[in-house]
Formats: sequence, C-alpha cells, structure tokens
Amino acid sequence: VGEIGRLLGRVVLDARVLERERHLVGELRELDRYRGELIATISHELKTPLSSIVGHAELLTDLETGIGSVEAIARNARRLDRLVQNLLDYSALQESRVHVPRPVDLRVLAAASVELIAVQAERGGLVLNLDVPSETVPVDADPDELGTVVDNLLGNAVKYTPRGGEVTVGVGSDDAGGVWLECTDTGLGISAADQVHLFSAFHRSTNPEALSLPGSGLGLAISRRIVHLHGGRIVVRSDLGVGSTFRVCLPRGRG
Ligand code: ADP
Repeated sequence: VGEIGRLLGRVVLDARVLERERHLVGELRELDRYRGELIATISHELKTPLSSIVGHAELLTDLETGIGSVEAIARNARRLDRLVQNLLDYSALQESRVHVPRPVDLRVLAAASVELIAVQAERGGLVLNLDVPSETVPVDADPDELGTVVDNLLGNAVKYTPRGGEVTVGVGSDDAGGVWLECTDTGLGISAADQVHLFSAFHRSTNPEALSLPGSGLGLAISRRIVHLHGGRIVVRSDLGVGSTFRVCLPRGRG
C-alpha cells in the first residue's frame, strides 16, 4: 500500500508539472500574439507620417508647392517624434525604475500644463479654464512624470474637443486625506464599451471621428502606469457626444 501511495503521489506531482507547463505554453502563445500585434501597430503608426514626409520631400523639387510641403514635413516629423517619445516612455516605465518623489504642489503642475497647451487650445477655438483653490494641494511626486500625466490628459481633451468647446483643469483636496486633479472637456466623449480598454497600451476608441485624429493609444497607458507608481488611481467618466472627465486621485503629500 505504501508503494501504491508513493506511486500515486508521483502521478499527481507529474500531472501538476504537466498542467503548469501547459499553462506556460498558453501564456507564451498569448505573449507572442501580443508581440505580433504590437509590431503591426507600431509599424503602421510609423509608416503613415513617414510616407507623407517622403511624398512631400519629393514634391519639394517643385518650387511652387514647396512651402506647403515643408509645413507638412515638419508636421509629420513632429508626429513621429511624439510617437517615438511615447514608445520610449512606455518601455522605460515597464522596467521598475527607482522613483524619487519630492513635495510638489498640484496647482503648479496644472498651471504649467495649461500654459503649455494654451496656444494650441486657442488655435482650436476652445475655451481653456484652470480651476485651483487658494491653498496648496500637496503631493509627493516626480514632477516630470506627473507633469506628463497632466500634459497627456490635457492634450487629449484639446485634441478630442471640436471648435467652440471647453476644457477645464481642476485640482483640490478631498475629505479622505487625498488630493485630485480633474480634466473635463465638452468633446467627442467615449462609449461605455471603449472606456473598458482605454488605459491599455495601443487602445484607441472605435469612434471614427476620434480615429481620424492622429494618436498611438499610448498616452493613457503611460499615464495610468505613472499614477500607479505614485500610489494613486485614474478613472474616466464619459458620455459619447457630450464630453469626458478624467480624474486622478493621489495620496496627500506632506506639503
Ligand atoms: P492617443 O490619443 O494617442 O490615441 P491615448 O492613450 O491618450 O492615445 O488615448 C486612447 C484613446 O482614448 C484615444 O485614441 C481616444 O480614442 C480616447 N480618448 C482619450 N482621451 C479622450 C478625450 N478627452 N475625449 C475623447 N476620447 C478620448
């Protein structure tokens, strides 16, 4: 009986090892599929602006259309530059970097991002508001990283809000010992189905109007990662055709 018991034990152990290996193979297949998708998306995003740059550079040989071509080349080169920067940020955040927080006032971060985007918002015919309290809103943060989050949210709000709309950034403290930053727009909005995947890398909403604008689907994935690294969370409330609000909640800093 002892021998049978020992053998049974072996069989159970082997079955467990086999099961784990089968699981690992499944995970590897999934990773491989993801890698394939990643390469396809990145190649496509690189290809569109590159083709345009090549096309306009060829047109430059004709002096009459030259000026327009130079502008198109600059525009598309900027788009490539942004995409490559996003890819670099995203891959850097995948590694667990040492994160050195220091005291930051959220009002200052919000004001800096608003200033950065003001010209673009005006060109897009938008009203841009900054809504901050008179007292400091302290967080312990890496200001560059958290600034990237605010820039991304504000950049999206301005990009996805048609002319005549309004974008508002607000910050404040809540009653539960936390602080928050909110970016609200009266833009295209996001359907409930799209909101589910919004923070995954390379995900863009299926709305054709939003898809017609350039983007890589990396900004929100990067932002969520940064917010998590700061011990916070990011949520969205949105109605298609009405507008969106992105809210970042963070632990209150020492001030
Ligand atoms: P990108 O804007 O480069 O595509 P993001 O990760 O920043 O990437 O955003 C993912 C998607 O979420 C966008 O493609 C867009 O469809 C949607 N989105 C993000 N912010 C907004 C917003 N303020 N209004 C409407 N749609 C938005």
